Amino acid sequence: MTSPRLREAEIRPDELMAEQGRRYEADVKWLLTQIDRFQEVPCPICEATEHRPEWSKYGLEYRRCTRCRSVYMSPRPSPALLAEYYRRSANYEYWNEVVFPASEEQRRAKIFRPRAERTVEIARRHNTRFGTLVDVGAGFGTFCEEVERLAAFERVVAVEPEPHLAQTCRDKGLEVIEAPVELAVEELEAADVVTSFEVIEHLFSPRELIEKCGSLLAPAGLVVLTCPNVMGFDVLILGELSATVDAEHLNYMHPASLGSLFEKCGFEVIEHQTPGRLDAELVRKKALSNELELGDQPFLRRLLIEDWERVGDLFQDFLVDAGMSSNMWLAGRKG
Ligand SMILES: [Zn+2]
Repeated sequence: MTSPRLREAEIRPDELMAEQGRRYEADVKWLLTQIDRFQEVPCPICEATEHRPEWSKYGLEYRRCTRCRSVYMSPRPSPALLAEYYRRSANYEYWNEVVFPASEEQRRAKIFRPRAERTVEIARRHNTRFGTLVDVGAGFGTFCEEVERLAAFERVVAVEPEPHLAQTCRDKGLEVIEAPVELAVEELEAADVVTSFEVIEHLFSPRELIEKCGSLLAPAGLVVLTCPNVMGFDVLILGELSATVDAEHLNYMHPASLGSLFEKCGFEVIEHQTPGRLDAELVRKKALSNELELGDQPFLRRLLIEDWERVGDLFQDFLVDAGMSSNMWLAGRKG
């Protein structure tokens, strides 16, 4: 499947993003006042304790696990602090009330429709039953709307614990379970596909999410999960300059490390892909704003500046085909 060309400004209108940026900074400032509620953790992917410092941003420390090469924030906010952070976040409130409504139609066409098509494609490729699909962390419900529109599944359920978002999902006519995923199990028959988009990187325990997805699934059911790829182009080139390196992103995995976590949780990894469309453009922007110095990097300067019009899209296509984009998808089958 070819994705429509994606331009960052289409999904993140600049003027809204400026206000959103201010609110995010205020949220992070508050989080840093709670630093005594942060906890040291071993690698949340493979549990190893050996590590070296990788990035430092906003006064937060990110470590590279020397065993599985994932990166993780440690110390990190406790689960209770994280819950409080999202509950009181001015940024998410603005996002829900302003940014998302203003950009929903662009996001629908550029993100959610391709996301729904890709999910159905994966399910077809692996001969899944098309009974129930459950989306964990359904947010605004746009993915669920788009997957319903494809009429591939008999039932689509949005699991969303945040009350305002859950209400938005209900207003769209979706079936909603307004609860954390572990409480959703009681209200569901065994699902055939569980999806979770851009959630796992935010959680105290990524392993818990995968186990909870597993508990929602029928035997041989599929889990389809997306998150940033720490081995992707923009993260590797930009490091802590990358917007992916974020105070809310605690876990930075790559296809192999997340795959091994799937296996530990009783899933067989059946495919991974990196369909991200933004890497080259994000790095180019940092170069144009001089945050990234390309003085001694003639190859990157040629790629991202001098020959950009001719090779930008080709290069991004290469990153996707080579599994080197910074957005990854992993699909697993429950054993
Ligand atoms: Zn590790």
